[in-house]
Amino acid sequence: MSTGTSGQALVTFEDVHKSFHTASGETVALQGISQAIGKGEFVAVIGPSGCGKSTLLRLLCGLEQPTRGRIRYSGGAVDFGVAFQEHRLLPWMTVEDNIALADHMTAKFSKASRERARDLCALVGLNGFEKRMPSELSGGMRQRTSFARAMYAKPELLLLDEPFGALDALTREKIIADAERIWLERRFTAFLITHSIDEAVQLADRVLVLSPRPGRVAAEITVDLPRPHVRERSNPRYVQLCDQLRRLLEI
Ligand code: ADP
Repeated sequence: MSTGTSGQALVTFEDVHKSFHTASGETVALQGISQAIGKGEFVAVIGPSGCGKSTLLRLLCGLEQPTRGRIRYSGGAVDFGVAFQEHRLLPWMTVEDNIALADHMTAKFSKASRERARDLCALVGLNGFEKRMPSELSGGMRQRTSFARAMYAKPELLLLDEPFGALDALTREKIIADAERIWLERRFTAFLITHSIDEAVQLADRVLVLSPRPGRVAAEITVDLPRPHVRERSNPRYVQLCDQLRRLLEI
């Protein structure tokens, strides 16, 4: 079982199986997942629709329990932040209030919360938009806000559930380059669910390819390119890794 850059695992999946029982019978969503996510590692998961990517994410954050096997967390528990494909911003709150939502919800909002939200605005490229409402933002800016909110509580693990999937190609390219820059600055552990080969190779240290249902790890690809990966897009090795993933996914 491989782990990330530090070699120390933050989360370990030990032979995890997940089945769902419905009126039409049993669905085996995931089968025999054994993986360790290293501290500070960026892992991407890619696979066809219905292969269990979202289930893996829900298991990771404790919204589902494995049917068999177990998930171990370093120190017993891990704080996580989540960014989804839909931005899920509160329409009646400004950008900075949305980012600091965790403190509003727990009535802990303070001057320090505002400062932290503003720092995050700058980090994600939303300088000058702190007081705007979500309706005044472009799709990319809403995703940037959602990304900043996911980072607000300095989580040990950032879960990214196709957060760039619904954006147009150009916006997506910019936001992915920024996400890599932010990860290089902060070095949190990240777990990205994606449909995009390019996104996986640009962001991840390691890409897990899931097989069609029941989802198993069919291949594990180490992205052995210098960082930032975004600058390596014309590197023959980058192209080779994308081709390898394309073949594995049989696109
Ligand atoms: P992906 O995210 O890769 O598209 P999912 O994790 O959403 O896949 O789903 C994997 C499989 O498990 C699918 O066949 C889906 O229908 C099934 N599934 C997911 N959640 C549930 C649930 N709560 N009840 C029944 N079946 C489910």
